[in-house]
Amino acid sequence: MGGSMDMYIFMAIGGVMSMIGAMMGQRLKAKADKYGKIPLRSGLSGKEVAQQMLDYYGIGDVSIVQGQGFLTDHYNPMKKVVSLSPQIYGGRSIFSAAVAAHEVGHAVQHDTGYAFLQMRSALVPIVQLSSKLQQFVLMGAFMALGASSDLSWVMLIAIALFSITALFSFMTLPVEFDATRRGLAWLDASGISEGEEYEGAKESLKAAAMTYVVAALSALVMVVYLIMKYAASGRRRA
Ligand SMILES: [Zn+2]
Repeated sequence: MGGSMDMYIFMAIGGVMSMIGAMMGQRLKAKADKYGKIPLRSGLSGKEVAQQMLDYYGIGDVSIVQGQGFLTDHYNPMKKVVSLSPQIYGGRSIFSAAVAAHEVGHAVQHDTGYAFLQMRSALVPIVQLSSKLQQFVLMGAFMALGASSDLSWVMLIAIALFSITALFSFMTLPVEFDATRRGLAWLDASGISEGEEYEGAKESLKAAAMTYVVAALSALVMVVYLIMKYAASGRRRA
């Protein structure tokens, strides 16, 4: 019976963390709305900003494509593609310039062999597998706790899987902050965004970074909770 209670507590923690995540997402959306409406004085589209930044860094083997959806912008290191959502690709706003420069920031990281990006990319297949498994293992672990049988190894596997997710989300942080730093530095140096345009770009990218910070903290909270559970069940057994 203890196991299902633990499960509810875990789900409640997860619920609170995802609510905070949703709030950060809303905040980012608000910045997207605000700065997506303010046109860039230079009149460049996100695609043009991205191309100019790639040219500036002498990166000729990365292509820029238009993706689908809203805020789906990303850099794909396998395909060497900067994928910009329609709003960013064709947009001529402060927001589109900021996001485009951030994504090219990832391409520059790749080009210069930035260590955290390489480590993060190496973890991707492992993380995909472990995130598929972790929910099932977790259920098993809580059932084992409830049955008070000595199945503590199931909990250990759950802890290991959730730790991989947490490690990955923490490794994402320097990668994201660094891409933003590179993007903003270039927007400033190139004169593409000046004064309040630069401030708007900075605010937008900071809001985007916060969503990653919350994701990492959520993952950490989960791991800490599981470790505490494991420690408590060990004390009961002893
Ligand atoms: Zn990024």
